[in-house]
Amino acid sequence: MTRFNIDGERMLSDLRKLRTFGECGKGVKRRAFTDADIQARRWLASRMTEAGLTVHVDPVGNVFGIPEGATNSILVGSHSDTQPEGGWLDGALGVIVGLEIARASREAGGPPIACVSFQDEEGRFSTLTGSRAWTGVLSLADVDLLADSDGVRFEEERKKASLIGTVSEVPTDWFRSFLELHIEQGPILDTSGERIGVVRDIVGIRGERMSFIGEQNHAGTTPMNLRRDAFQGLVRFTTDLNSKLRGIAGPATVWTIGHVAVHPNAASVIPGRVDFSVQWRDPSDELLQRMREVVHQTALATAEAMRLEWTTSDYSAIPATHCDPTIVAALERAAVTAVPNGWRPITSGALHDAANVSKLMPMGMLFVPSINGISHNFDEDTAVDDLVLGAETLARAINLLTN
Ligand SMILES: [Zn+2]
Repeated sequence: MTRFNIDGERMLSDLRKLRTFGECGKGVKRRAFTDADIQARRWLASRMTEAGLTVHVDPVGNVFGIPEGATNSILVGSHSDTQPEGGWLDGALGVIVGLEIARASREAGGPPIACVSFQDEEGRFSTLTGSRAWTGVLSLADVDLLADSDGVRFEEERKKASLIGTVSEVPTDWFRSFLELHIEQGPILDTSGERIGVVRDIVGIRGERMSFIGEQNHAGTTPMNLRRDAFQGLVRFTTDLNSKLRGIAGPATVWTIGHVAVHPNAASVIPGRVDFSVQWRDPSDELLQRMREVVHQTALATAEAMRLEWTTSDYSAIPATHCDPTIVAALERAAVTAVPNGWRPITSGALHDAANVSKLMPMGMLFVPSINGISHNFDEDTAVDDLVLGAETLARAINLLTN
């Protein structure tokens, strides 16, 4: 197969153009199906057409650019919707790199490459909504029932897909594999000074909602030894849990108590109840299960020691995803060539569309550094040279996979 090279300047120019849709200072506001998002998708579709690709818009607003006659192409892309206050590169980089790689390969007579922008990766309605619908993880009927925080139904909003182009199903078996370039959204590459991360796994996520229930009482008249203080229970639980989890954690393990509600939350009342979330992430499903046992044991021991009641509900589990070994090997060879000592294997601590797509076809991902590790923030940025290097490295890997 003829090798191809990307045009870095053309890619950067498209990336900067995409930034203008919903631009807000240094950042972007481009929530799924807002005017800015639809305008951006219309523009993307026009760039795909100009590149000689056929535009297909699926029923949930995912936009595909398909090379002519190709039913066995490599799909490259990401998402072009953003958080309510998003950065200009999260998702957008991967979408434009997909466009550039599909365009450059077509111009050079290289392998057939398709590109995609998935819809609502950032969760206006759910998480990774577009790729979950396309891959069948969620049925269209289930997706239609979703509503955003204002009660707007997905079923209503997705009618806007027809503003982007003709709507039709896009069969998943048109594609042989999926590749996604994304900013790291964390500090690992920026801190180490490395410029490329070859993703090995995407973490699995477990979460539960828990409560300690004690006795609400007067903060002045109740002696310390007779109290059943739910908040003090949470403090003890958190301290014990940190030390126990540190003992079994792997290099990528993280855990968070991110939501806490104290009742009645008043200065002169002993808290009778505290509701809280516990979430933990790691690329090993086995370790995630062990962590759950530790979380439960620690909560039970705390409840017993402090005469509290412990309840748990809403357990959720997203399994870990492993990248395809053949694609990982090609990405590593490409990275070694691009920056011999400037890359590393990495675990993605964030979810990506690639995790859904990997259920249907071999998948690989590449990261470039986020300056100061900042993302989901207007200040999100990456050095221009790293943007181009990431795209070149992904293109080199595709050349390796197709030759
Ligand atoms: Zn993203």
